Amino acid sequence: MTVATTKPMARVPELEPSHKDARRYPQGVAFMDGQYLPMSEAKVSVLDWGFLHSDATYDTVHVWEGRFFRLNLHLDRFFRGMERLRMKLPYDRQEVERILSNCVALSGHKSAYVEMICTRGGSPTFSRDPRDAENRFIAFAVPFGSVANKEQLERGLHVGISETVRIPPTSVDPTIKNYHWLDLVKGLFDAYDAGAETALVMDTNGNIAEGPGFNVFTIKNGQLKTPAFGVLPGITRQTVFELCKEVGLTVAAADLSRDELNEADEVFITSTAGGIMPVTRVDGRSIANGKVGIVTRQLTDLYWKKHSDNAWSTAVNYE
Ligand code: PLP
Repeated sequence: MTVATTKPMARVPELEPSHKDARRYPQGVAFMDGQYLPMSEAKVSVLDWGFLHSDATYDTVHVWEGRFFRLNLHLDRFFRGMERLRMKLPYDRQEVERILSNCVALSGHKSAYVEMICTRGGSPTFSRDPRDAENRFIAFAVPFGSVANKEQLERGLHVGISETVRIPPTSVDPTIKNYHWLDLVKGLFDAYDAGAETALVMDTNGNIAEGPGFNVFTIKNGQLKTPAFGVLPGITRQTVFELCKEVGLTVAAADLSRDELNEADEVFITSTAGGIMPVTRVDGRSIANGKVGIVTRQLTDLYWKKHSDNAWSTAVNYE
C-alpha cells in the first residue's frame, strides 16, 4: 500500500481505498510522512500545530486534461510562504514537484485539484516552542473541483456581501496562503442567510476584499479592477492580469468599493478551483442586464485555451 518517493510507483489499483469509510472520501491519492496513501488513510495527528493553531501554509494547483496549470507560480508561492513562516521541508522544489506529479499519476485523474501543505507539525518533546517543531509535508490529488457548479457557471453566481472584515494583513500576511478562514466561513453563512450562493467580505477600510477561496474583479467601461489590499494575490488573478495584457485590456489593482461593485458592467471571481467564474447578482440585485458579460466570456475562453499551451502548463507523467 505504501511507496517511498525514490522507488517505482505502485499501480493505481493497489492504492484503491480498502478502508471501510473510503466512500466518505473523494477518490484520490495523498502523500504524507514519506508514503503514498489513499485519501481515506491520509490522517494527521490532532497535536499537529497545523490543526491546533492553523499554523500552516499551502497551495493548490489544478491539473486539466493531464496538464498542471502554472505549476511554477504555485510552487514559488508555496516555497515563499514556508520561508516567511520559518518552515523547512526535507524535500526540495524538484522533489515536491515529483511528489505532486506522482499523486496525480497514482490517482489516475486527468483533471485534478492538487494540494501541497506544510504544517508546523509538533515537537517530539511536546515543547511549546515552534522552533522545536518538525514541520510536516502533505500533498494530495483529488478530482477537480470548482467554486461554481455547472448551472452557476452558465447563469452567473449570486453573491452576498458580508459585513465581516477579513483578518487584517498586519495580523496575518495574506500573501502567505493560509487556513485562517473563520471570517470567510462567517461570510458564507451571512450570504446564505441573505439568500446568496457565496460571499465577499470586507477589508479593514470598508472596501471589498475577497471571498472564500477566490478573488473578485469588476469591469466598468472596459476597464478591469480587483482589490489590492488585504487579499491573497491569487495565481488566477495574476493570470487575468497577463491575459488582459495579451488582449489589450487595462486592469488596476486598487481599492474597490461596494458601490463600484454594484454599479459594474460585469463582475467575475477567480480561483484555481474553477478558473474565471461569472457573477450576475450581488446582494439580490442584477449586475447590468443580469447576463454573463462579453469580456468575462472572452477572458474565460482564453484562460481555458492556455491550459494546453506549453508556456502555461506542464504535462503530468502518468507512466
Ligand atoms: N483568496 C483566497 C482567500 C483563497 O483561498 C484563494 C484560493 O484558494 C484565492 C483567493 C484564489 O487564489 P488562486 O487563484 O491562486 O487559486
